[in-house]
Amino acid sequence: MKSLKENFQKTHIVIIGSGIIGKFNALELSELGFCVTIIDPAQHKNSSNAALGLLMGNMYQKRRGRSWDLRKQSIELWPHWITFLQKFNNKLNIEKPLIQLTTNEEKFRKLEKFIYENNDINLRILEKDSIFIKNIQKAFQTKNMRGMISFKDGRINATSLLKTLDKYLKLEKINCLNEEITKIRKSNNQWISTTKNNEDIKSDIVILCNSLKAVDLIESMSHIKLKPVLGQAMEVDIDDAEVDLLSLPKQFNIDGKNIIAKSKNKLIIGSTDEYSTKPEENTFEKLTNFLENKPNWLSKGKISKKWYGIRSKPDGEPSPIMRKIEDGLIICTGFYKNGILLAPACSKWVANEIKNYLS
Ligand SMILES: Cc1cc2nc3c(=O)[nH]c(=O)nc-3n(C[C@H](O)[C@H](O)[C@H](O)COP(=O)(O)OP(=O)(O)OC[C@H]3O[C@@H](n4cnc5c(N)ncnc54)[C@H](O)[C@@H]3O)c2cc1C
Repeated sequence: MKSLKENFQKTHIVIIGSGIIGKFNALELSELGFCVTIIDPAQHKNSSNAALGLLMGNMYQKRRGRSWDLRKQSIELWPHWITFLQKFNNKLNIEKPLIQLTTNEEKFRKLEKFIYENNDINLRILEKDSIFIKNIQKAFQTKNMRGMISFKDGRINATSLLKTLDKYLKLEKINCLNEEITKIRKSNNQWISTTKNNEDIKSDIVILCNSLKAVDLIESMSHIKLKPVLGQAMEVDIDDAEVDLLSLPKQFNIDGKNIIAKSKNKLIIGSTDEYSTKPEENTFEKLTNFLENKPNWLSKGKISKKWYGIRSKPDGEPSPIMRKIEDGLIICTGFYKNGILLAPACSKWVANEIKNYLS
């Protein structure tokens, strides 16, 4: 009798879109033995390349429902994938812990309640005098910050992760096509994906991981709607001998803004949620308005890099969209937030869906 892996080898799967979700699906499915082709005309210009890579899973305050289940599963799966991917890049890692801070009394009370009710040893309240935030208070010249620390959450460098996945795809000889898919249709029990150059690619299964453009390919088959959400981030150079950014925790969040201390005098700050496709001009103000009084070194900081990414948000249903559209056609997209965090859990869902379909 043929092994499951031998049967999978005969199944050709086309993945449309090569952001973090497409690439992670390719990894999961190729490790299961499937024959995978991944197609994207602009894989380096997507929202995944803009991501800061914060993995905010365990600190998610609603501990029930689909969103929590996906987070929980991803947190459990990440260590396995990190160990696996370290074979291709031994520097790839998740930097822990992650700190979430607020200057708002009401928000802090909510955090306190959440930690009190969940009794999770990986989460702890940070009071104003906590040693973990002493240097943040000092640098940001405020005594009003409080929050929580999560020893299970952290950050993975998204660029490094994407490059590692590229290396894996190359070494495993996964077919990667630099093409745009303009049409998909079913014929004789096979899916045909047509490229802009009118080339037909046949497969048994198609997975749509192409964000906003997914709806164009399935217009006649579903009523899914996605809207664009733009997010921005920037790197700020500071020139102040008094402030050493390396004395701060590596990554933290103050009232919704993610902050990464990149070097002694370089800070990354992101991200925003803008319902548009064009970045607005006042990025610096928007990204640095998390404190009532900005410290001088931040006001005088110079933007050395600025970037943005356009994500897709499901309109009228929760994010992300993971669904079978038709036999052999799956959609896994609409990650307007947390695509990096959720990639392992969502790829697992897709793999299970395919295994069920084939069994
Ligand atoms: C500034 C910023 C900071 C962020 N920070 C974080 C963070 O800290 N943690 C976190 O978890 N998430 C973060 N995110 C969110 C995260 O980046 C997204 O959720 C994630 O990248 C979505 O990945 P994706 O693969 O679904 O989409 P994308 O990366 O956008 O990839 C979709 C791909 O589909 C391709 N495509 C489109 N149409 C076609 C077609 N017709 N044929 C073939 N290919 C096609 C595109 O070229 C593109 O490469 C951040 C986002 C931004 C913008």
